Parts: sequence; structure tokens; C-alpha cells
Amino acid sequence: MKSFAWTLSTLNRSAALTVLQMLLTRASCLFLGHQVNNRIFSGRRSITRQCECGIEYLRPDGPETRVRHNISCFLFGHHYKIMGFRSGHYEYGCEVCGHPLLLLPDSPNARQASFRKQVRYFCNLLGHRVHLVGERAGMTEYACHCGHNFFKEERDRTKITHPLICFFAGHYLTHIARRCEADEYYCRNCGHPFYFF
Ligand SMILES: [Zn+2]
Ligand SMILES: [Zn+2]
Ligand SMILES: [Zn+2]
Ligand SMILES: [Zn+2]
Repeated sequence: MKSFAWTLSTLNRSAALTVLQMLLTRASCLFLGHQVNNRIFSGRRSITRQCECGIEYLRPDGPETRVRHNISCFLFGHHYKIMGFRSGHYEYGCEVCGHPLLLLPDSPNARQASFRKQVRYFCNLLGHRVHLVGERAGMTEYACHCGHNFFKEERDRTKITHPLICFFAGHYLTHIARRCEADEYYCRNCGHPFYFF
């Protein structure tokens, strides 16, 4: 009898811990935005993607998704793999956070199948000096020599800075295309695209 009561109380405690853990995860997603990880998405069995907090998100026909920054990519660099070549640029996507990179053929890492690259803090701080890539998804696409690309409604931008709202609140993502076996999204505030596998 004693051992039955002990088992019951242990079960109750572990169920309470699971619920508490889920509530904390949900609170952190609510506060910081949802977590994304292409390594988890690549191995998923269903066609939908699910955050650690339990919600299904980033559906191509679904609502906008707020995602948080990936601190490890920001501090230690992105893990880029090649996705293709378009509009005179080699295109890459981060295997962890989905950050894209559009490199001109004369860029040091262009043509490599995969590489790790540090964030260009200088551009992040002072703004990206951008050139025109083309028109896509009803917007104009620009890229900086550091490889960062953006979507904007205006057609005459030469410099793009990251707005503070994205720094503090994360990015608000909407689906724009399905390409190279990935779904492409863009943030309505900064124009930053992301690829999720
Ligand atoms: Zn979440
Ligand atoms: Zn990354
Ligand atoms: Zn730049
Ligand atoms: Zn943003």
C-alpha cells in the first residue's frame, strides 16, 4: 500500500513538472517569439512544423509567425549550405536558423558547397550598402556585399538598416515562395527573408 502511494506521488510530481515545463516554454515563446531550427525541421515526419511549445506554425497558408533570434548563430556564425544560383548570385541558407545569403561570384565564399560565416556586425550596426537583385513576390529584392538580402516596396534603396523592433521583438514572418525544397518567408518590418526546410 505504501509503495502504491509512493508511486502515485512520484507520478503526480513528474506530471506537474511536465506541465510546468510546457507552461515555461509557452511563456518564453510568447515573450521572445517561437524557436526555429532547420535541423529539427529536416528530420520531421509530418508536413507541418511544430515549435517546442506545442503549436503548429510556419504553414505556407497559415497566419504570420513571430520568431526569435538564434543567439548561437549570432555569436558563433551561421552554417550555410548552397541552395542554387539566381540573378547573378550564389544563394545559401543557414542549416540552423534559416538565414539566407546571396553572394556575388567574386565574394570569398561564393561557389563553396557549405561554410560557416560570422555575422557582419559592422553592417548590422551601420546599415547594409545594397544593390538591386530583381523584382519578386511583388517587391524589390536587394543584397549587400556581405550577402544579406532584403525585400522592400521602394525601388531606389541604396542603404538598409535593421529596425529596432526586430532587434527587440524578433521577426514577423509571412510565406512568400516555395523554392529549392524550402519555404521562403519574409519579415514585414525589416524585409529580411528566411528559408525553412
Ligand atoms: Zn513556440
Ligand atoms: Zn543561422
Ligand atoms: Zn551588409
Ligand atoms: Zn524583421
